[in-house]
Amino acid sequence: MNAHAPVQNGGCDVAIHQERGQRAVFCGLTGIVWLHRKIQDAFFLVVGSRTCAHLIQSAAGVMIFAEPRFATAIIDERDLAGLADMNEELDRVVTRLIERRPDIRLLFLVGSCPSEVIKLDLSRAALRLSQRLAPAVRVLNYSGSGIETTFTQGEDACLAALVPEMGESDAADLLIVGALADVVEDQFSRIFAELGLAARFLPARRAGAMPPVGRGTRFLLAQPFLTETARALEERGARRIPAPFPLGAEGTTGWLQAAAEAFGVDPARFEAATAPGRARARKALAAHRERLEGRRVFFFPDSQLEIPLARFLARELGAEPIEIGTPYLHRGHLAAELALLPRGATVVEGQSLDDQLDRCRQARPDLTVCGLGLANPLEAEGLATKWSIELLFTPIQGYEQAGDLAALFARPLDRRARLEV
Ligand code: SF4
Repeated sequence: MNAHAPVQNGGCDVAIHQERGQRAVFCGLTGIVWLHRKIQDAFFLVVGSRTCAHLIQSAAGVMIFAEPRFATAIIDERDLAGLADMNEELDRVVTRLIERRPDIRLLFLVGSCPSEVIKLDLSRAALRLSQRLAPAVRVLNYSGSGIETTFTQGEDACLAALVPEMGESDAADLLIVGALADVVEDQFSRIFAELGLAARFLPARRAGAMPPVGRGTRFLLAQPFLTETARALEERGARRIPAPFPLGAEGTTGWLQAAAEAFGVDPARFEAATAPGRARARKALAAHRERLEGRRVFFFPDSQLEIPLARFLARELGAEPIEIGTPYLHRGHLAAELALLPRGATVVEGQSLDDQLDRCRQARPDLTVCGLGLANPLEAEGLATKWSIELLFTPIQGYEQAGDLAALFARPLDRRARLEV
């Protein structure tokens, strides 16, 4: 593990280490599981193998709909051997899909490891199919392959693919970037309205309603893993509002306040709009403080939510994050979060699985936040675990969800306490 320059943290230092080695993280296909619920007239067609189909099915296993908005076009041995024309097959699959599902307005062709290995050019396929299916259906592409992306980077790649589709506007607009559960989006819309701000959201719920962007746009990231999307928006002239992420009462207040200050909202108006939510969140959090206070928490790198979550657990619930792993760390986007981490916090960017497992076993944390693959073996060794994937599937942002977020961490400790009794 290589130590890098520590970052200044209001007088304290946070040590950021980097390590490289074997990783245990989902690939970017996983994002389809929450994205397909968000954009209601979109469809995600993975161009991949049976393994890819299996991953999506099992990740989404708990929420299969009668007519899901994702599928896998299987690349089989004939295709891999170059015996079939993949482009023709893809066109055939897409034509059949659109005939059967005329409600689809936006089709994402999602690249995978196999489609990358055979060098199938999905951007050309998307262009060709878009021309054929216009104006009813727009076809875009992005990669969710495990070679190029981990877990939440799939959402980043998907949203970045949407940016060129956004209309042009130089109006001074507030744009919220990152997929949020509808219930959370509605709550934030109400708060922004009380602040006198008309917030638009990327992604929108419908393909035809994506917000415009331009030099007047100021955007707030709702998720910490949107590096490419932010870059694409900045290339279109938009400016990011630096802020912490809206997890917990403090993070939500800091996030809202950053937008309020960027648009010159009167502090008294901000106070009036946020005080009730802050009070409700504080009350909800108090119910979980006893269970989490003083608990030592170890984060394996997975969702890129680890740093904001560690900040939330430490500052609002009195937990002690002993190692905060993250697959990637965007120092600019995470600057406000790093400044709020407790003294002595150790952040590890990247992963060397065996080394990290050794450190975890040695530390014997009260709670380990990790991917599904690591949770079972660690549970078998007597460690309480929390699946990080749940933090993406569950509405956790904002004041009204602060208590639910705390409960997600308290529950495994409760369960273990009951088992011990
Ligand atoms: Fe596995 Fe790659 Fe398919 Fe992801 S994209 S399921 S890593 S083969």
